[in-house]
Amino acid sequence: MTNLSKFYQKTWMQRLQALMDQQLISVEQRQLLEKSATDPAVGDQQIENYLTHYGLPEGLAFHYLIDQRRYLVPMVTEEPSVIAASSHGAAIVEKSGGFYTKVTDHLLWGQIVFEQVANAEKLKSLLEQQQEKLLQIANQAHPSLQQRGGGARYLRVRFLASDLVSLDLAIDTQQAMGANMVNSMLEAVADYLREQVSTPVLLSVLSNLADQALATAVCRIPVELLARPQITGQQVAQKMAAASRLAQLDPYRAATHNKGIMNGVDAVAIAMGNDWRAIESAAHAFAVKKGNYRGLSQWQLKNDESVLEGTLTLPLPVGFVGGSTKIVPLVQLNHHLAAIKSVGELEKVMVSVGLAQNLAALQALVSEGIQQGHMRLQLRATVLAAGAQPAEVATIVTKMQQLQRTDLATAQNLLAKEHEGEH
Ligand code: NDP
Repeated sequence: MTNLSKFYQKTWMQRLQALMDQQLISVEQRQLLEKSATDPAVGDQQIENYLTHYGLPEGLAFHYLIDQRRYLVPMVTEEPSVIAASSHGAAIVEKSGGFYTKVTDHLLWGQIVFEQVANAEKLKSLLEQQQEKLLQIANQAHPSLQQRGGGARYLRVRFLASDLVSLDLAIDTQQAMGANMVNSMLEAVADYLREQVSTPVLLSVLSNLADQALATAVCRIPVELLARPQITGQQVAQKMAAASRLAQLDPYRAATHNKGIMNGVDAVAIAMGNDWRAIESAAHAFAVKKGNYRGLSQWQLKNDESVLEGTLTLPLPVGFVGGSTKIVPLVQLNHHLAAIKSVGELEKVMVSVGLAQNLAALQALVSEGIQQGHMRLQLRATVLAAGAQPAEVATIVTKMQQLQRTDLATAQNLLAKEHEGEH
């Protein structure tokens, strides 16, 4: 059996050596791990069993006009065509006057769940009577948050089953996402309640269903701006409204509709050092909040069908400070590039990006289809996967387009012929 015991206690160099000793990596692979490790000292502090830094490409999306301010939007993604689509969607909205956004307060829910509840009503009134005390204990656990104007605001009690009750605390996390702060505040309250209440506490942790941290973007597009080569703007707009309705009715379609939105939102989240898993789980839980899983955005024809109005509301448990925002140097650079100065501004940009992404995807889907736009970018990835050097990619992509082929084997054959020709 492979001996990598106490891997976590080894230094970074010892870990690489251990992988070599066990013949799990070659000399070249070790060199790759070393070369990719842009900041091993920091990486080793950030996560456990650190090996290397895994790089993803970062690009810039253009044409974002949000509440009459222009933004450059850094996006980190491995998926071809996300940034092109984002800029394309934003450019249509820019010509229509831009995005208009609204953000709510930035509150995160924390849950303390009681089990083996004998009398739920009695527990509820006991907890409600203690509201002020419980909020005070929460705030004492992280006093700097209250000093900044945030902190625990109010509580609610929900009956989940006859024996399960959730005490939820709404906590204003100010400029931070707040997961760690909320969790420590909850643990302090849970410890107090363990002494006060005989009903056992099952667990205490934040909820990622951040429905008290919502951001909404709206855009109103004159339909003629949506025209494509084979189809009028009016027809595109009608089909986009129909596709939007479809995403409200069919969860199979809604899942892909929402994935397209999150293509953009996640790319900004990563660029801004945020926890994209939290944002993903918030978005999908919010999408099913009314009972059925639905599309997060809606598109409707307005003004005698002369305008297509798009609306997107997203829960955005994001942070402008905290987490890895200070640790990852590129995050500071991306804040600077986008000229974002607060969590509210970050939310406005993220929700606008989600709507632009959705606009571009729907416009393509109801006209020429998404493959045509994706094709050249997708082909580039295939050709790279076939082993091409960056300088060879354009030639091979053009040949594949001429042959109307998209598969890896063709890319490999063309590449081999190209190399034969060189000898
Ligand atoms: P931190 O633990 O980094 O806490 C926020 C920090 O920001 C605090 O140190 C706070 O300072 C500082 N801060 C400075 N200025 C402000 C301000 N204006 N407003 C608020 N805070 C300020 O991060 P979070 O609590 O935000 O937690 C986010 C992290 O938690 C992410 O890395 C996430 O991945 C992780 N996480 C996520 C979970 C989830 O389910 N989503 C679960 C557990 C962790 P001070 O201490 O002085 O108040």
